[in-house]
Amino acid sequence: MGEHRNPRLVVDLPVWAELVGHELHQGVAETPEGPWWFSVRKTVPTSAGTVFSLGERTPVGHRLWAYTNFDCNLACMYCCAESSPKADARRLTPEVAREAFGEFATLGGSEVFLTGGEPFMHPELGELVAAAEGLHRTILTNAMIFGRGRRRELLESLDRDVVPQVSLDSSTATLHDQQRGKGSWSRAIEGIGQARTLGFQVRVAATMFDEDPAGVDALHRRFDQEGIAMESRVIRPVAAEGFADSGVHVSIDNLEPEPTITADGAWWHPVAVTNPHTRIQDTPTPVAELLDVVRDTLAVQDAAARSGREVFRCA
Ligand code: SF4
Repeated sequence: MGEHRNPRLVVDLPVWAELVGHELHQGVAETPEGPWWFSVRKTVPTSAGTVFSLGERTPVGHRLWAYTNFDCNLACMYCCAESSPKADARRLTPEVAREAFGEFATLGGSEVFLTGGEPFMHPELGELVAAAEGLHRTILTNAMIFGRGRRRELLESLDRDVVPQVSLDSSTATLHDQQRGKGSWSRAIEGIGQARTLGFQVRVAATMFDEDPAGVDALHRRFDQEGIAMESRVIRPVAAEGFADSGVHVSIDNLEPEPTITADGAWWHPVAVTNPHTRIQDTPTPVAELLDVVRDTLAVQDAAARSGREVFRCA
């Protein structure tokens, strides 16, 4: 139940409720000019309901992304997070991570992807990983800085079911180094080897401006050489976000949602955390509200697609 003063709501709210399948009980207006009182009974998505019946889409609530920090030892030319050695770290604290991951687990969540920035630059990465214990955990890394010292000790201390996902953009150093910095390719290869030697199941992810088949074939041959299983390979295009001045243009309308938290907010997708249009809330928790907004937005998009209508958002 809520009090509303915007007269557009009298028109928009019933349309929205019908699209997402919620029950709207329109209350009384105190005067013809409002305020109006509405109550909405929300539908709960189930495996038989709208949210889970959409084919290959990862069910909302299955996976949560978390930016551990925004600083990085690299400053890749396409970095969607605008990370660099000079970026404000915006570190996720272990307290917030425990609250968010605990809530996510209670809601039935399965896996957490820890990304950055370079997560191994976070001095409390170990605590963040521990905060997600019980969930499948993946850490996205450039694999360049965990070879020695306390970061090596941290890597060694991690449970072996934690998956390091390493960026490797090309089969040889030339393109990767052009995009990510001189010497980064050979250090990534070295890092993949270090993690595998320690017994981790490493995933690799390539970000490519132009997915030419020759480049992709060569990349797969390289991954074969490194002993990376086929199901542990991700090849994706550059998104025109952050530092990227070209690439695929993304928005809430064409991005499959991947709910994402940062120290200071929550977002539709990790690739668009510099885009104010994909910001969902100003705090990382409650996770339940983040997931509700994502589900409702998807329901509107799906209902509009079924009815052949374009979704127009006026607010
Ligand atoms: S793409 Fe990854 S490695 Fe490169 S600057 Fe961004 S966070 Fe760092």
